[in-house]
Amino acid sequence: MMKYLIFSLFMLMGTMVFIAACSKDDDSTCTESTWYEDADGDGLGNPDVSQDACDQPNGYVSNSDDPDDTSNSGTTLHNAFAEFDADNYTIYLDGNEVVLESNGLPNHTSPYWSAGHPLDVEPTVTSYAQMAPGNIDDFNGSYTLRVPANPVKASNASSTGLGPIGMAISGSMIYNDEEGPNVPIDNALPSLDYTAAHTGPQSYHYHLETKAWSNDDENLIGIISDGFFLYGRKCNSTGTYPTDLDASGGHTSTTQHTTVAEYHYHIQNELYLNQYYILFPGNYQGTPNAIQ
Ligand SMILES: [Zn+2]
Ligand SMILES: [Zn+2]
Repeated sequence: MMKYLIFSLFMLMGTMVFIAACSKDDDSTCTESTWYEDADGDGLGNPDVSQDACDQPNGYVSNSDDPDDTSNSGTTLHNAFAEFDADNYTIYLDGNEVVLESNGLPNHTSPYWSAGHPLDVEPTVTSYAQMAPGNIDDFNGSYTLRVPANPVKASNASSTGLGPIGMAISGSMIYNDEEGPNVPIDNALPSLDYTAAHTGPQSYHYHLETKAWSNDDENLIGIISDGFFLYGRKCNSTGTYPTDLDASGGHTSTTQHTTVAEYHYHIQNELYLNQYYILFPGNYQGTPNAIQ
């Protein structure tokens, strides 16, 4: 019996020496960082369960952003993304961000397609003489936008700039109400096609209500680069024009895509030059992300 105890003690000491040697070796070859458990697999870590290690342990992530690590409802792809054209977009979750990749092409007819293209049509509200130079298919577009899966309003609103400020469900880009630095869209209006788009230095884009798929209704227009969705002039929550919009055309309510009230923008039901509805005159109420 005594012999057995001494043998066990010997083995135990040997094991301890072995463990000490191992961890000493680890310390000298790497820098440990803190990892947080991600039990629900949503890419967000539990601040209350962590371990220090050199390499990322299985089931652990580097952030501690998950106040509820029992359900991954925080980062499922929003229902509204199902309306984005599947041929022109690749949309996927990357941790707690949504990545949208577009080829910039619209999924509808326009006189801005080159002659012979299946979606090419005769101009109606514009004319060949008034149209901007360049066909849709002259541009080899490629646009990427990363937005938080659950965007929040910023403490301060910020103004939009030139170039793409959002992505429309068709595949093409959303611009604001300017055609150049401090140049309102007014002079370029005759070049807009029936869905208020034209070509420009960076491809085909929309400035005004997109009649190809939204005309005085609650349809989804697209997503603004701060991650909030843009809808038509009416709201699904009431079936009519919202009366509680902020300066950016935003408010918080349910939509056809969610039963939980969330912040979103609308095309404001205010006439511009007596006949137009600007898509998004701004400002961003969230934090804008680059479309590049
Ligand atoms: Zn333009
Ligand atoms: Zn609404």
